[in-house]
Amino acid sequence: MAAIVEPAEKPAAIVPFLDPEFIARLRAALPASCLLTDAEDTVTYESDGLFHLHEKPLAVALPEDELQVAAVLRACRDFQVPIVPRGAGTGLAGGALPHRHGILMSLTKMKALLEVDVAARQARVQPGHTNLAISQKVAAHGLFYAPDPSSQLASSIGGNVAENSGGVHCLKYGLTVHNVIGLRVVTSDGDVLELGGGSLDQPGYDVISILNGSEGLLGIVTEVRIRLLPTPPAIRVLLAFFPTTQDAGNAVGAIIGAGIIPAGLEMMDTKSMEASESFMPLGLRLDAGAGLLCELDGLPEEVEELTTWVSALMEQCNGFDIREADDEAQRARLWWARKGAYPALVKIANDVYICDSTVPRRSLGRVMAKIDVLSDQHRIPVAQMFHAGDGNIHPVLYYDSTQPGQSERAEELATDILKLVIAEGGTVSGEHGVGSEKLKGMCMQFDETELEAFQAVRRAFDPHGVLNPDKAIPTLHRCAEFGSMRIRFGQDPFAHLPRF
Ligand SMILES: Cc1cc2nc3c(=O)[nH]c(=O)nc-3n(C[C@H](O)[C@H](O)[C@H](O)COP(=O)(O)OP(=O)(O)OC[C@H]3O[C@@H](n4cnc5c(N)ncnc54)[C@H](O)[C@@H]3O)c2cc1C
Repeated sequence: MAAIVEPAEKPAAIVPFLDPEFIARLRAALPASCLLTDAEDTVTYESDGLFHLHEKPLAVALPEDELQVAAVLRACRDFQVPIVPRGAGTGLAGGALPHRHGILMSLTKMKALLEVDVAARQARVQPGHTNLAISQKVAAHGLFYAPDPSSQLASSIGGNVAENSGGVHCLKYGLTVHNVIGLRVVTSDGDVLELGGGSLDQPGYDVISILNGSEGLLGIVTEVRIRLLPTPPAIRVLLAFFPTTQDAGNAVGAIIGAGIIPAGLEMMDTKSMEASESFMPLGLRLDAGAGLLCELDGLPEEVEELTTWVSALMEQCNGFDIREADDEAQRARLWWARKGAYPALVKIANDVYICDSTVPRRSLGRVMAKIDVLSDQHRIPVAQMFHAGDGNIHPVLYYDSTQPGQSERAEELATDILKLVIAEGGTVSGEHGVGSEKLKGMCMQFDETELEAFQAVRRAFDPHGVLNPDKAIPTLHRCAEFGSMRIRFGQDPFAHLPRF
């Protein structure tokens, strides 16, 4: 039975609303305080971190436990109502954007730290727990949780799993997928999958890896078992400046090529440093073409030796004014140069768009230079800041959508950047996911067979198609609608499909 009813009275402006029978199922599944249906209550959930896309959910479910999650999912399956899971809503690709004809499920009430097993260095957490608070709670045991997206103060562990989030420390310690060893997931049939567990090796397919980065399309994560690591005894951060981005890119190559694996290696261009400096003066060298931050951790003697080595490599690549920070306050100050750049740009610019993607490390300098050329061609300024160690770039386009033509030029520039990234052997999504906004990029990157294989995985988990529809994996018809094609071989595999 279809739950979406279009009111007959209003043919001009059709406002969908939910079938009363479906609402009754939700009310039976959830305590009264856990279901929002009034527009003034649901407005908070209209957007995630991708502010320019917004849509009203028809209702918001805020379950308090797994049984409630399952009951809501079964109701959505029975009434064919789309359901969009949401963590903290910090996603930058529109993954938690509500569906016009669906409901949203916020996992924020399920936020307990269920267990810390110090001996096994593991913890079990509910999906709404924030990332940073995990490390804060286990710090007394000399442990930490390594994946640290810059949004870690707010973003949830469930959202981190759904996006396979990265962060500064992922170069050395791996992405979310490398630090999650168990999951509880509720499927669209309301069944619970218990995947992985306390032991490090598991029989069967590696379904945990498929769930990491699945963007809420395969199931709703209700519990995460994570790996904890011992806090390193010594940590030092170096900040060096370079005449050009190419020099800084060469330094990245030299450090990694020498066999050194820093805990973090982050780069920013002059525009990013200018933005940071305007927000919080740190004495950054604005006469430099780029700044490179390198965090080294380990035993004190090891860190001492690595500092000397990395400084020498930076100097060989024309690095200058190299600064070091040992204590936590000094390190936080240096990191602010990088972590503050994006919030600073959001404050300065009318509109910003962050074009997360990944390129092979060897192409970093060249890609940065080409992005600068594209930025001039489209007359849209771009600030560049990124996780240089793993080639994950974040060109930030800033513009003013109130000025004629600027939004269109920004969109064209973003598409050109993705084409450049694919041509360089990279991927259209780095760590922020595909969500609603990179669907066209997926059509450019993958061919018909590959996209169909992704859809088959999706159907295996959610044959009813109710979980986060129209996100992450485009249908072939959607690709035809975009008029996009895979550019890898310069041919349009969708030419035979109808254009809408
Ligand atoms: C200032 C800023 C800095 C950022 N820095 C980084 C960074 O360094 N690295 C990085 O990787 N990302 C970064 N991000 C992006 C974002 O924070 C991450 O993608 C984060 O993991 C999203 O978590 P969330 O809880 O906010 O999820 P949401 O935005 O609420 O949701 C994200 C996706 O996950 C799905 N989802 C959420 N919870 C569940 C669940 N329990 N089960 C199934 N699906 C679920 C949603 O449907 C959606 O598709 C940044 C964002 C901001 C605003």
